[in-house]
Amino acid sequence: MSINEDHNRDIASFRMPAFDVDGNLGALAKWLRILGFDAAFPRKSPSRERIFVTTRLVLESPVTVVVDDPDPIGQVKQVIADTGIIVREEMLFTRCFLCNVPVHEISSAQAGGRVPGPILQSKRVFHECPQCRRVYWEGSHEKRIKRRLADAGLSLVRRDSKGPLL
Ligand SMILES: [Zn+2]
Repeated sequence: MSINEDHNRDIASFRMPAFDVDGNLGALAKWLRILGFDAAFPRKSPSRERIFVTTRLVLESPVTVVVDDPDPIGQVKQVIADTGIIVREEMLFTRCFLCNVPVHEISSAQAGGRVPGPILQSKRVFHECPQCRRVYWEGSHEKRIKRRLADAGLSLVRRDSKGPLL
């Protein structure tokens, strides 16, 4: 079995992959979190059952993705190409991009006082990070992020499609 086959088999064993991201790839870690993935940062070395993303060739790690694109979105594309992970639209914005923990839905009453009044009036769905208490709502930044991904040629698997589950 070649090194590549070993590598691909190891990657495939990660049903819902989690990442350890090297210290010089902070923007990539944030993007992976925005896409809904568990991305611990900063990490100097890989831990068990997580995919290590680095710019260095780390031979002792069984599951390492080496990126060399200077652009964070380009790096995301390299991670996707190398791991075969599926990026599903409904996974976007399910995780706090600062704390790397899943957010949970809260009521507009719970969001009251913590978001601008007009936002509270016009939005129905709010999420909160259980760690930093930051409140998220659907807004123009979502459209901007989706457009940036689309412009980079990064396609999302939509909710209603029959693509493979992670
Ligand atoms: Zn947070």
